[in-house]
Amino acid sequence: MSGGALHVLGARRLRGMVAAGEISAAEVFAHFRGRALEYRRLNAFTHLAEESAPPAEGALHGVPVAHKEIFCQRGISGACASRILSSYAPPFDAAVVERARGAGAVFLGRTNMDEFAMGSSGEHSAHGPALNPWDETRSPGGSSSGSAAAVAARLAPLATGTDTGGSIRQPAAFCGITGVKPTYGRVSRWGMIAFASSFDQGGALAVSAEDCALALNALCGFDERDSTSLDSPPEDMARFLEEPLRGLKIGAPSGFFNAGLDSETGARVQEALAEMQKAGAELVDIKLPSFELAVPAYYILTCAEASSNLSRFDGARYGRRAGETSGLRGMYEKSRGEGFGEEVKRRILAGTYVLSEGYYDAYYRRAAAVRKAVAKDFAAAFERCDIVAGPATPGPAFALGSIAENDPVAMYMQDIYTVPVSLAGLPAASVPCGFAAGLPVGMQLVAPPMAEARLLQAAHQYQLRADFHMQIPEGAA
Ligand code: GLN
Repeated sequence: MSGGALHVLGARRLRGMVAAGEISAAEVFAHFRGRALEYRRLNAFTHLAEESAPPAEGALHGVPVAHKEIFCQRGISGACASRILSSYAPPFDAAVVERARGAGAVFLGRTNMDEFAMGSSGEHSAHGPALNPWDETRSPGGSSSGSAAAVAARLAPLATGTDTGGSIRQPAAFCGITGVKPTYGRVSRWGMIAFASSFDQGGALAVSAEDCALALNALCGFDERDSTSLDSPPEDMARFLEEPLRGLKIGAPSGFFNAGLDSETGARVQEALAEMQKAGAELVDIKLPSFELAVPAYYILTCAEASSNLSRFDGARYGRRAGETSGLRGMYEKSRGEGFGEEVKRRILAGTYVLSEGYYDAYYRRAAAVRKAVAKDFAAAFERCDIVAGPATPGPAFALGSIAENDPVAMYMQDIYTVPVSLAGLPAASVPCGFAAGLPVGMQLVAPPMAEARLLQAAHQYQLRADFHMQIPEGAA
């Protein structure tokens, strides 16, 4: 096959072709690298590999992969789209990077993101925002903005991301691709720069659920270097893909389709649910009573964790030191003052505040109680259904710059459908389910803990009937 249309083949096809010797991994790499250069204006990549290393044999044999720049990579400087890490070159590879390589993936480049993964638009990046390939005046979502934009524009067949409160699912939804966040603890956090450690989880973005399953087979697995890594036996995430939907019970929380939801977005999700019903799934009504408390609880807990995690970036232990400072305190103040962007500073301040003596009970303890209540809601829902489904975002991709800098709460409300799932640590995906005003809409699917294989089955069976994920933005065709 000529290199012409290689980028429209998914990871699975590419792997098959490389394994069968129909094309070399180096040719596949060169093709995608060429596209990444051609579409530089999307600002999806912050670093491109010069050449491909000969791949190992494995589930991702010869598949180019883009890594979110939150993952440490030996000798590559710059991380987390932050000025404070602009010259940090890690002496080691993150577990995700190791595992992808071990499975035969070929490193293509690093992708843009919101600074320290804090954001829903990609705009809080020291590199400037990535652009949405469906409409370059719009946000590709965040924080895994570059990974989603790269896959959507077919600059990479596969990308890694991290999801603390929606950063894989929301950009996947905005960019019309599939994104999967596994159960908390499935993917090692070793070498993944921490934002909120009890939420952070690596995962995959690709065109289809099938390709995400392939990626998760490579990325998931126990790692003794991460104390919260789940010690569960390896499993094939693709093992249920071909099982039909018949008999699968899908719970659609009525509370998800309320006033805050864009009506066209809601309509697309309802149509997708109807499609799955036609395929034999049974729809049941479920309730998640604590759902509305999730956003404030999430921001209290994650800011608290972030304020602690980010204290190590002080110009002495880690991070770029400001020049011309006076005294130790002056050095800290100037290094952190110059090194962090506005949003990161806001969260460090909020986190320090909620953890301070006298406020701990009022904020942190109550938020922790909400976290438990949300997890209980989901556990109760899963007694009645196998999968919970609803919108991934309140509307399609918004215009860059449209959510005012001085209104962070408006940005936080973008996460209303994704953060409840994160509080409960559950596996979830966003799957393209149509278009609203010409922009992609994502349906969120959520499964019980460790039920990724069922989640992927539901997503794949839907994708056999609806090919929205196969559509390519006009500008990238
Ligand atoms: N948008 C959410 C936040 O800003 C989620 C970020 C993430 O999942 N990393 O916290």
